[in-house]
Amino acid sequence: MNSRDSEALAGLLRDKGFILTDSPDSADVILFNTCSVRQHAEDKVWSEIGRIAKLSPLDFAYKTRKIKAGGTPRPTKKIVGLVGCMAQNYKDEIFKRCPNVDLVVGPNDLISIPLLIEAILRERSQVIAVGTMEREQDFYISNFRREKDHAYVVISEGCSNFCSYCVVPFVRGRLHSRPHQEILKEIKSTVNSGIKDITLLGQNVNAYLDTDHLPDKPSNYVNFIELIKKIDEVEGLKSFDFVTSHPKDTSQELFLAMRDCKKLKKQLHLPVQSGSDRILKLMNRGYTAKQYSELVKEYRKITNGRITTDIIVGFPTEAQGDFNQTLNLMKEIEFNSAYIFKYSPRPHTEAENLKDDVALKEKELRHKILLDLQKEISQNKKCTSIL
Ligand code: SAH
Ligand code: SF4
Repeated sequence: MNSRDSEALAGLLRDKGFILTDSPDSADVILFNTCSVRQHAEDKVWSEIGRIAKLSPLDFAYKTRKIKAGGTPRPTKKIVGLVGCMAQNYKDEIFKRCPNVDLVVGPNDLISIPLLIEAILRERSQVIAVGTMEREQDFYISNFRREKDHAYVVISEGCSNFCSYCVVPFVRGRLHSRPHQEILKEIKSTVNSGIKDITLLGQNVNAYLDTDHLPDKPSNYVNFIELIKKIDEVEGLKSFDFVTSHPKDTSQELFLAMRDCKKLKKQLHLPVQSGSDRILKLMNRGYTAKQYSELVKEYRKITNGRITTDIIVGFPTEAQGDFNQTLNLMKEIEFNSAYIFKYSPRPHTEAENLKDDVALKEKELRHKILLDLQKEISQNKKCTSIL
Protein backbone atom coordinates (compact mmCIF):
# COMPACT_ATOMS: atom_id res chain seq x y z
CA MET A 1 0.00 0.00 0.00
CA ASN A 2 2.82 2.38 0.87
CA SER A 3 4.72 1.76 -2.33
CA ARG A 4 1.56 2.45 -4.34
CA ASP A 5 1.08 5.69 -2.35
CA SER A 6 4.70 6.67 -3.06
CA GLU A 7 4.17 6.00 -6.75
CA ALA A 8 0.93 8.04 -6.84
CA LEU A 9 2.67 10.89 -4.99
CA ALA A 10 5.60 10.82 -7.41
CA GLY A 11 3.05 11.01 -10.25
CA LEU A 12 1.28 14.00 -8.68
CA LEU A 13 4.59 15.84 -8.24
CA ARG A 14 5.68 15.02 -11.79
CA ASP A 15 2.36 16.32 -13.14
CA LYS A 16 3.00 19.60 -11.25
CA GLY A 17 6.37 20.03 -12.97
CA PHE A 18 8.71 18.49 -10.38
CA ILE A 19 11.52 16.33 -11.79
CA LEU A 20 11.90 12.92 -10.13
CA THR A 21 15.32 11.68 -9.11
CA ASP A 22 16.53 8.62 -7.22
CA SER A 23 19.62 10.44 -5.98
CA PRO A 24 19.27 12.24 -2.60
CA ASP A 25 22.44 14.23 -3.38
CA SER A 26 20.92 15.95 -6.37
CA ALA A 27 17.39 16.36 -4.94
CA ASP A 28 15.97 19.67 -3.68
CA VAL A 29 13.15 17.85 -1.93
CA ILE A 30 13.47 14.48 -0.16
CA LEU A 31 10.28 12.76 0.95
CA PHE A 32 10.11 9.72 3.23
CA ASN A 33 6.82 7.91 2.86
CA THR A 34 6.66 5.89 6.05
CA CYS A 35 5.02 2.84 7.62
CA SER A 36 4.17 2.50 11.32
CA VAL A 37 2.98 -1.10 11.39
CA ARG A 38 6.08 -2.39 13.17
CA GLN A 39 8.63 -0.65 15.37
CA HIS A 40 11.44 -1.88 13.15
CA ALA A 41 10.12 0.04 10.10
CA GLU A 42 10.01 3.26 12.12
CA ASP A 43 13.52 2.77 13.52
CA LYS A 44 14.89 2.54 9.99
CA VAL A 45 13.26 5.89 9.06
CA TRP A 46 14.58 7.74 12.13
CA SER A 47 18.10 6.61 11.32
CA GLU A 48 17.78 7.46 7.62
CA ILE A 49 16.53 10.98 8.47
CA GLY A 50 19.60 11.40 10.67
CA ARG A 51 21.79 10.42 7.73
CA ILE A 52 20.03 12.84 5.37
CA ALA A 53 20.51 15.65 7.91
CA LYS A 54 24.19 15.47 7.00
CA LEU A 55 23.36 16.15 3.35
CA SER A 56 21.13 19.02 4.33
CA PRO A 57 22.80 21.02 7.13
CA LEU A 58 20.50 23.11 9.25
CA ASP A 59 22.73 26.20 9.41
CA PHE A 60 21.88 26.83 5.78
CA ALA A 61 18.26 26.72 6.81
CA TYR A 62 16.22 29.12 4.76
CA LYS A 63 18.60 32.04 5.16
CA THR A 64 20.87 31.75 2.18
CA ARG A 65 18.29 30.91 -0.47
CA LYS A 66 18.64 33.00 -3.58
CA ILE A 67 15.47 33.79 -5.46
CA LYS A 68 15.98 33.34 -9.18
CA ALA A 69 14.37 36.03 -11.33
CA GLY A 70 10.96 34.97 -12.62
CA GLY A 71 11.00 31.48 -11.11
CA THR A 72 10.17 29.54 -7.99
CA PRO A 73 12.94 30.09 -5.46
CA ARG A 74 15.44 27.25 -5.47
CA PRO A 75 16.20 26.14 -1.93
CA THR A 76 19.78 25.87 -0.80
CA LYS A 77 18.63 23.63 2.02
CA LYS A 78 16.98 20.46 0.88
CA ILE A 79 13.35 20.28 1.87
CA VAL A 80 12.92 17.10 3.93
CA GLY A 81 9.44 15.65 4.36
CA LEU A 82 8.36 12.83 6.65
CA VAL A 83 5.00 11.74 5.28
CA GLY A 84 2.57 8.83 5.64
CA CYS A 85 1.78 6.83 8.76
CA MET A 86 4.63 8.04 10.99
CA ALA A 87 3.54 11.63 10.33
CA GLN A 88 0.05 10.77 11.56
CA ASN A 89 1.46 8.86 14.48
CA TYR A 90 3.93 11.45 15.83
CA LYS A 91 2.60 14.72 14.37
CA ASP A 92 4.59 17.82 15.46
CA GLU A 93 6.75 15.77 17.83
CA ILE A 94 8.72 15.03 14.63
CA PHE A 95 9.94 18.63 14.36
CA LYS A 96 11.33 18.40 17.91
CA ARG A 97 12.98 15.06 17.31
CA CYS A 98 14.31 15.97 13.82
CA PRO A 99 14.69 19.76 13.42
CA ASN A 100 15.88 19.12 9.88
CA VAL A 101 12.39 18.01 8.80
CA ASP A 102 10.33 20.73 7.09
CA LEU A 103 7.20 18.88 6.11
CA VAL A 104 4.98 16.45 8.07
CA VAL A 105 1.98 15.08 6.17
CA GLY A 106 -0.39 12.24 7.13
CA PRO A 107 -1.48 9.50 4.67
CA ASN A 108 -4.83 11.11 3.93
CA ASP A 109 -3.31 14.52 3.14
CA LEU A 110 -0.67 13.37 0.64
CA ILE A 111 -2.57 15.01 -2.21
CA SER A 112 -1.70 18.46 -0.73
CA ILE A 113 2.07 17.91 -0.85
CA PRO A 114 2.79 19.90 -4.06
CA LEU A 115 0.95 22.90 -2.57
CA LEU A 116 2.65 22.47 0.81
CA ILE A 117 6.10 22.46 -0.79
CA GLU A 118 5.20 25.75 -2.50
CA ALA A 119 4.13 27.08 0.93
CA ILE A 120 7.48 26.13 2.48
CA LEU A 121 9.34 27.93 -0.29
CA ARG A 122 7.12 30.99 0.09
CA GLU A 123 6.87 31.23 3.86
CA ARG A 124 10.14 29.60 4.82
CA SER A 125 8.65 27.74 7.69
CA GLN A 126 7.90 24.18 8.68
CA VAL A 127 4.51 22.88 7.56
CA ILE A 128 2.29 20.15 9.01
CA ALA A 129 -0.90 18.54 7.66
CA VAL A 130 -2.19 15.57 9.62
CA GLY A 131 -5.84 16.43 10.16
CA THR A 132 -7.75 14.33 7.66
CA MET A 133 -8.89 10.82 8.60
CA GLU A 134 -10.45 10.03 5.22
CA ARG A 135 -9.34 11.04 1.73
CA GLU A 136 -11.78 13.46 0.19
CA GLN A 137 -10.38 13.59 -3.33
CA ASP A 138 -9.08 10.89 -5.62
CA PHE A 139 -5.38 10.66 -4.78
CA TYR A 140 -4.70 8.07 -7.50
CA ILE A 141 -5.36 10.26 -10.53
CA SER A 142 -1.85 10.27 -11.99
CA ASN A 143 -1.03 7.58 -14.54
CA PHE A 144 2.61 7.40 -13.46
CA ARG A 145 3.74 3.77 -12.99
CA ARG A 146 7.16 2.49 -11.99
CA GLU A 147 6.75 -1.05 -13.34
CA LYS A 148 6.07 -1.85 -16.98
CA ASP A 149 4.24 -5.15 -16.62
CA HIS A 150 2.31 -4.88 -13.39
CA ALA A 151 0.34 -2.23 -11.49
CA TYR A 152 -1.20 -1.85 -8.04
CA VAL A 153 -4.70 -0.42 -7.78
CA VAL A 154 -5.98 0.69 -4.37
CA ILE A 155 -9.63 -0.27 -3.85
CA SER A 156 -10.04 0.76 -0.23
CA GLU A 157 -8.18 2.74 2.38
CA GLY A 158 -7.98 2.44 6.15
CA CYS A 159 -9.44 -0.34 8.27
CA SER A 160 -12.19 -0.64 10.86
CA ASN A 161 -11.17 -3.97 12.35
CA PHE A 162 -9.12 -2.78 15.31
CA CYS A 163 -7.00 -5.89 15.78
CA SER A 164 -5.60 -5.18 19.22
CA TYR A 165 -1.94 -5.00 18.08
CA CYS A 166 -2.45 -2.89 14.96
CA VAL A 167 -1.88 0.83 14.43
CA VAL A 168 -3.48 0.99 10.95
CA PRO A 169 -6.98 2.20 11.98
CA PHE A 170 -5.35 5.00 14.00
CA VAL A 171 -3.00 6.27 11.31
CA ARG A 172 -4.97 5.53 8.15
CA GLY A 173 -8.47 5.98 9.52
CA ARG A 174 -11.55 3.78 9.20
CA LEU A 175 -12.29 1.62 6.15
CA HIS A 176 -13.27 3.73 3.18
CA SER A 177 -14.02 2.08 -0.17
CA ARG A 178 -13.27 3.92 -3.38
CA PRO A 179 -16.22 4.23 -5.76
CA HIS A 180 -16.19 1.20 -8.06
CA GLN A 181 -16.46 3.41 -11.15
CA GLU A 182 -13.23 5.18 -10.14
CA ILE A 183 -11.48 1.80 -9.70
CA LEU A 184 -12.70 0.49 -13.06
CA LYS A 185 -11.60 3.73 -14.75
CA GLU A 186 -8.11 3.41 -13.27
CA ILE A 187 -7.88 -0.24 -14.34
CA LYS A 188 -9.05 0.53 -17.89
CA SER A 189 -6.57 3.37 -18.30
CA THR A 190 -3.78 1.17 -16.89
CA VAL A 191 -4.68 -1.58 -19.36
CA ASN A 192 -4.76 0.97 -22.20
CA SER A 193 -1.27 2.09 -21.23
CA GLY A 194 -0.08 -1.49 -21.83
CA ILE A 195 -0.10 -3.00 -18.31
CA LYS A 196 -2.27 -6.13 -18.29
CA ASP A 197 -1.58 -7.57 -14.83
CA ILE A 198 -2.83 -5.83 -11.68
CA THR A 199 -3.05 -6.33 -7.93
CA LEU A 200 -5.98 -4.85 -6.02
CA LEU A 201 -4.91 -3.37 -2.71
CA GLY A 202 -6.60 -2.73 0.61
CA GLN A 203 -5.84 -3.36 4.28
CA ASN A 204 -8.88 -5.62 4.23
CA VAL A 205 -9.90 -5.94 0.58
CA ASN A 206 -12.81 -8.27 1.02
CA ALA A 207 -14.63 -5.84 3.33
CA TYR A 208 -14.93 -3.58 0.27
CA LEU A 209 -18.38 -2.00 -0.03
CA ASP A 210 -19.17 0.91 -2.31
CA THR A 211 -22.15 2.60 -0.68
CA ASP A 212 -21.32 6.27 -1.01
CA HIS A 213 -21.77 7.04 -4.59
CA LEU A 214 -24.88 5.11 -5.54
CA PRO A 215 -28.59 5.58 -5.01
CA ASP A 216 -29.08 4.84 -1.34
CA LYS A 217 -30.64 1.40 -1.75
CA PRO A 218 -28.45 -1.37 -0.27
CA SER A 219 -29.37 -3.51 -3.28
CA ASN A 220 -27.34 -1.05 -5.39
CA TYR A 221 -24.22 -1.32 -3.26
CA VAL A 222 -21.23 -2.97 -4.89
CA ASN A 223 -19.43 -5.47 -2.63
CA PHE A 224 -16.06 -7.15 -3.15
CA ILE A 225 -17.45 -10.17 -5.01
CA GLU A 226 -19.36 -7.94 -7.41
CA LEU A 227 -16.30 -5.77 -7.89
CA ILE A 228 -14.02 -8.67 -8.87
CA LYS A 229 -16.68 -9.92 -11.31
CA LYS A 230 -16.77 -6.47 -12.95
CA ILE A 231 -12.96 -6.33 -13.09
CA ASP A 232 -12.83 -9.79 -14.65
CA GLU A 233 -14.79 -8.37 -17.57
CA VAL A 234 -12.40 -5.48 -18.31
CA GLU A 235 -11.34 -5.86 -21.92
CA GLY A 236 -7.63 -6.33 -22.45
CA LEU A 237 -6.87 -7.20 -18.81
CA LYS A 238 -4.98 -10.51 -18.64
CA SER A 239 -4.68 -11.30 -14.94
CA PHE A 240 -5.29 -9.88 -11.47
CA ASP A 241 -5.09 -10.75 -7.80
CA PHE A 242 -5.75 -9.01 -4.47
CA VAL A 243 -4.25 -8.43 -1.00
CA THR A 244 -5.00 -8.55 1.93
CA SER A 245 -8.02 -10.59 2.97
CA HIS A 246 -9.38 -10.97 6.47
CA PRO A 247 -10.71 -14.44 7.42
CA LYS A 248 -13.87 -13.01 8.97
CA ASP A 249 -14.87 -11.46 5.62
CA THR A 250 -13.89 -14.51 3.58
CA SER A 251 -16.60 -16.95 2.54
CA GLN A 252 -17.50 -19.86 0.29
CA GLU A 253 -19.23 -17.35 -2.00
CA LEU A 254 -15.90 -15.57 -2.49
CA PHE A 255 -14.14 -18.85 -3.34
CA LEU A 256 -16.81 -19.68 -5.91
CA ALA A 257 -16.37 -16.23 -7.47
CA MET A 258 -12.60 -16.73 -7.46
CA ARG A 259 -13.07 -20.02 -9.26
CA ASP A 260 -15.39 -18.46 -11.84
CA CYS A 261 -13.41 -15.28 -12.58
CA LYS A 262 -11.18 -16.40 -15.45
CA LYS A 263 -8.56 -13.68 -15.09
CA LEU A 264 -8.29 -13.88 -11.31
CA LYS A 265 -5.19 -15.71 -10.08
CA LYS A 266 -5.99 -18.54 -7.73
CA GLN A 267 -4.02 -17.23 -4.80
CA LEU A 268 -5.09 -15.90 -1.44
CA HIS A 269 -3.12 -14.04 1.20
CA LEU A 270 -5.07 -14.80 4.38
CA PRO A 271 -3.24 -13.77 7.56
CA VAL A 272 -3.96 -16.14 10.46
CA GLN A 273 -1.66 -14.39 13.00
CA SER A 274 -1.77 -17.24 15.57
CA GLY A 275 -2.88 -20.84 16.00
CA SER A 276 -3.98 -20.31 19.60
CA ASP A 277 -7.64 -19.40 20.20
CA ARG A 278 -6.72 -17.62 23.42
CA ILE A 279 -4.24 -15.38 21.59
CA LEU A 280 -6.61 -14.88 18.62
CA LYS A 281 -9.21 -13.62 21.09
CA LEU A 282 -6.73 -11.25 22.70
CA MET A 283 -5.83 -10.07 19.22
CA ASN A 284 -9.51 -9.39 18.48
CA ARG A 285 -9.36 -11.33 15.22
CA GLY A 286 -12.92 -12.68 15.30
CA TYR A 287 -12.29 -16.36 14.41
CA THR A 288 -10.87 -19.54 15.92
CA ALA A 289 -8.00 -21.63 14.56
CA LYS A 290 -10.50 -24.37 13.63
CA GLN A 291 -12.69 -21.93 11.71
CA TYR A 292 -9.60 -20.69 9.90
CA SER A 293 -8.45 -24.14 8.95
CA GLU A 294 -11.98 -25.11 7.72
CA LEU A 295 -11.94 -21.99 5.55
CA VAL A 296 -8.63 -23.01 4.02
CA LYS A 297 -9.93 -26.53 3.28
CA GLU A 298 -12.94 -25.06 1.52
CA TYR A 299 -10.77 -22.61 -0.42
CA ARG A 300 -8.48 -25.38 -1.61
CA LYS A 301 -11.37 -27.68 -2.51
CA ILE A 302 -13.09 -25.01 -4.61
CA THR A 303 -10.15 -23.21 -6.25
CA ASN A 304 -7.17 -25.55 -5.82
CA GLY A 305 -5.24 -22.31 -5.30
CA ARG A 306 -2.16 -21.14 -3.42
CA ILE A 307 -2.44 -19.81 0.11
CA THR A 308 -0.08 -17.54 2.05
CA THR A 309 -0.28 -16.02 5.50
CA ASP A 310 1.10 -13.64 8.18
CA ILE A 311 1.95 -14.77 11.71
CA ILE A 312 2.96 -12.76 14.77
CA VAL A 313 5.14 -14.45 17.40
CA GLY A 314 5.59 -13.19 20.95
CA PHE A 315 2.23 -11.45 21.37
CA PRO A 316 1.80 -10.55 25.09
CA THR A 317 1.25 -13.66 27.26
CA GLU A 318 2.03 -16.05 24.37
CA ALA A 319 3.19 -19.18 26.24
CA GLN A 320 5.00 -22.19 24.83
CA GLY A 321 1.64 -23.99 24.53
CA ASP A 322 0.16 -21.16 22.42
CA PHE A 323 3.22 -21.13 20.21
CA ASN A 324 3.02 -24.93 19.75
CA GLN A 325 -0.55 -24.51 18.51
CA THR A 326 0.69 -22.05 15.86
CA LEU A 327 3.43 -24.48 14.92
CA ASN A 328 0.89 -27.32 14.59
CA LEU A 329 -1.45 -25.18 12.50
CA MET A 330 1.38 -24.37 10.13
CA LYS A 331 2.24 -28.07 9.83
CA GLU A 332 -1.40 -28.95 9.23
CA ILE A 333 -2.11 -26.27 6.61
CA GLU A 334 1.24 -26.19 4.83
CA PHE A 335 1.07 -22.64 3.50
CA ASN A 336 2.78 -21.90 0.20
CA SER A 337 4.59 -19.12 1.99
CA ALA A 338 4.34 -17.16 5.24
CA TYR A 339 5.54 -13.82 6.63
CA ILE A 340 6.56 -14.17 10.26
CA PHE A 341 6.75 -11.06 12.46
CA LYS A 342 8.01 -10.47 16.00
CA TYR A 343 5.40 -8.59 18.01
CA SER A 344 6.20 -4.96 18.81
CA PRO A 345 3.85 -2.74 20.85
CA ARG A 346 2.33 0.09 18.80
CA PRO A 347 1.03 3.42 20.06
CA HIS A 348 -2.76 3.92 20.50
CA THR A 349 -3.48 0.17 20.29
CA GLU A 350 -5.29 -1.94 22.87
CA ALA A 351 -2.37 -4.36 23.17
CA GLU A 352 -0.09 -1.48 24.14
CA ASN A 353 -1.73 -1.74 27.57
CA LEU A 354 -0.64 -5.37 27.91
CA LYS A 355 2.82 -6.13 29.24
CA ASP A 356 5.18 -6.99 26.37
CA ASP A 357 6.26 -10.01 28.41
CA VAL A 358 7.81 -12.38 25.87
CA ALA A 359 11.55 -11.75 25.99
CA LEU A 360 13.18 -10.61 22.73
CA LYS A 361 15.41 -13.72 22.74
CA GLU A 362 12.31 -15.93 22.95
CA LYS A 363 10.60 -13.96 20.15
CA GLU A 364 13.70 -14.42 18.02
CA LEU A 365 13.78 -18.15 18.73
CA ARG A 366 10.07 -18.60 17.87
CA HIS A 367 10.54 -16.46 14.76
CA LYS A 368 13.40 -18.68 13.60
CA ILE A 369 11.54 -21.91 14.32
CA LEU A 370 8.59 -20.82 12.19
CA LEU A 371 10.82 -19.46 9.42
CA ASP A 372 12.73 -22.76 9.25
CA LEU A 373 9.53 -24.78 9.24
CA GLN A 374 8.04 -22.64 6.47
CA LYS A 375 11.23 -22.89 4.43
CA GLU A 376 11.01 -26.67 4.58
CA ILE A 377 7.30 -26.66 3.68
CA SER A 378 7.78 -24.24 0.76
CA GLN A 379 10.70 -26.28 -0.51
CA ASN A 380 8.70 -29.54 -0.39
CA LYS A 381 5.77 -27.88 -2.13
CA LYS A 382 8.03 -26.61 -4.91
CA CYS A 383 9.50 -30.10 -5.39
CA THR A 384 6.04 -31.68 -5.50
CA SER A 385 4.82 -29.17 -8.08
CA ILE A 386 7.89 -29.86 -10.26
CA LEU A 387 7.34 -33.65 -10.06
N1 SAH B 1 -4.27 -5.44 6.72
C1 SAH B 1 -3.44 -6.53 6.62
C2 SAH B 1 -2.01 -6.18 6.89
C3 SAH B 1 -1.68 -5.48 8.12
S1 SAH B 1 -0.01 -5.18 8.45
C4 SAH B 1 -3.97 -7.64 7.47
O1 SAH B 1 -4.83 -7.47 8.29
O2 SAH B 1 -3.53 -8.73 7.28
C5 SAH B 1 0.81 -6.64 7.93
C6 SAH B 1 1.14 -7.59 9.02
O3 SAH B 1 1.95 -6.99 9.98
C7 SAH B 1 -0.04 -8.11 9.81
O4 SAH B 1 -0.76 -9.10 9.15
C8 SAH B 1 0.62 -8.60 11.07
O5 SAH B 1 1.04 -9.94 10.93
C9 SAH B 1 1.86 -7.71 11.18
N2 SAH B 1 1.72 -6.75 12.30
C10 SAH B 1 0.79 -5.79 12.45
N3 SAH B 1 0.98 -5.12 13.62
C11 SAH B 1 2.04 -5.72 14.23
C12 SAH B 1 2.70 -5.50 15.47
N4 SAH B 1 2.30 -4.57 16.33
N5 SAH B 1 3.79 -6.27 15.75
C13 SAH B 1 4.21 -7.23 14.87
N6 SAH B 1 3.59 -7.49 13.71
C14 SAH B 1 2.52 -6.74 13.38
FE1 SF4 C 1 -4.59 -3.99 11.13
FE2 SF4 C 1 -6.33 -5.93 11.63
FE3 SF4 C 1 -6.98 -3.96 9.97
FE4 SF4 C 1 -5.15 -5.73 9.22
S1 SF4 C 1 -7.31 -6.16 9.67
S2 SF4 C 1 -5.02 -3.52 9.02
S3 SF4 C 1 -4.12 -6.21 11.14
S4 SF4 C 1 -6.61 -3.75 12.16
